[in-house]
Amino acid sequence: MNLPKSILISGGRVIDPANGFDAVADLLILDGKISALGPTAAAKAPPRTDRFAAGGLVVCPGLIDLHTPLREPGQSAKETIATGTAAAARGGFASVVCMPNTSPAIDNAGTVALIRERAEREGTVNVFVAGAITKNIAGEELAPIGSLKQAGVIAITDDGHCVQNHELMRRALEYANMFDLPVMDHCQDYSLVTDGVMHEGYWSAALGLRGWPSCGEELIVARNILLAQLTGARVHCQHLSAAGSVQLLREARSRGVPISAEACPHHFTLTDTVLAGSDTFWSGDGQNILSPPREEWPRWPSYDTNFKMNPPLRSAADRAAIIEGLADGTIEIIGSDHAPHCNYEKEVEFDYAPFGIVGFETELALSLMQLYHSSRLSLSGLIAKFTAAPARLLRLPLKGNFSPGSDGDVTVFAPDEEWVFDAADSPGKSRNSPFSGWTLKGRAKAVIVRGGIVFAGEPAGQVAACSVAQ
Ligand SMILES: [Zn+2]
Repeated sequence: MNLPKSILISGGRVIDPANGFDAVADLLILDGKISALGPTAAAKAPPRTDRFAAGGLVVCPGLIDLHTPLREPGQSAKETIATGTAAAARGGFASVVCMPNTSPAIDNAGTVALIRERAEREGTVNVFVAGAITKNIAGEELAPIGSLKQAGVIAITDDGHCVQNHELMRRALEYANMFDLPVMDHCQDYSLVTDGVMHEGYWSAALGLRGWPSCGEELIVARNILLAQLTGARVHCQHLSAAGSVQLLREARSRGVPISAEACPHHFTLTDTVLAGSDTFWSGDGQNILSPPREEWPRWPSYDTNFKMNPPLRSAADRAAIIEGLADGTIEIIGSDHAPHCNYEKEVEFDYAPFGIVGFETELALSLMQLYHSSRLSLSGLIAKFTAAPARLLRLPLKGNFSPGSDGDVTVFAPDEEWVFDAADSPGKSRNSPFSGWTLKGRAKAVIVRGGIVFAGEPAGQVAACSVAQ
């Protein structure tokens, strides 16, 4: 990263949810920091400042994706810090939080240092590190949480796995609380889920696939609420998929329990009917998705492994509950759970394919489509879920806002631009997206990290012009 720099972003609709700002304005970044917003910004820009014309575009604090397995070290055939962060920038993200389910796991200070050093050298965007809750993410013995914190982790999680021993989880929460770290949990009760591969319901029976019941998630969400209440620690439930989980969260938050949650675009866009093939989906649950005319609908076969993720896609009622939770603030944050896998790993029978999909480049558009273009959230309300809310959870006061002195991280996007996503075009290494070929609405146009442009997409028609003058 060639940072920090100065830049004047002019004429865009600046939306800064943390400060309640939403107006056409100029934004000045000096030496990598937010310097001025509004009528004085242009006058304050020193000569030879880089300029970015953002007319017709939305300018917001650099988006944060707090749930991103980057696969390095150990699985660099799937993704690396360099390719993953390039894909993140293409999707509009200025900061990502990498998950510790690498090989070796991020369960010691040395691995944290390795990733931070590599991210600084090879990363396109900011990389924050989440450490493991337990050694080797095995769920048996606590990782050295204090030294992980000292090494710079901003949260702990065993993502991909879930600590099954409640007493051990209680101790993890107590330690995390001492170090003021949020504990992010992949909520999955192993004894209920066993080897389920899709949502347990009508379609798992019809397709003959083993079911992953909603209560396998809800039970751990309930456990986390009780332990957050007991310990006072901040618990964050990752990638909620089930209606019952949202209901539990809503009730607990109304009582002030320190618990939060995120949702992923695939869970609030798709349902389990996708596994019966595209015709079944588009003629049923797909009908209330903003989509092109019938003859242009993307097609896929039944049992397509690009629709296999953990937790699984659930029913239309679950999808509606996740959307309702996002709309009423029960779910404060959106994350991708960007999970790259090689083609050969996914090109196997459904039972044997790994869970997970890539998500960086479709995340913003799907969120805009399902939440903003469908009038469930304002643009500012949606942006908050990618900026102010994750920055608050992760204690990153200089991220996610345009307050003077904050880091000069900016995302510029065209909320109404329609485009067709092609997974083969991605700068990421993996292609496992169920959204390839979809017409999406809303697209990132530029990402600025500490004042330096790290991604500048194609201008949107005549309204956007990117001119960088040295
Ligand atoms: Zn997970």
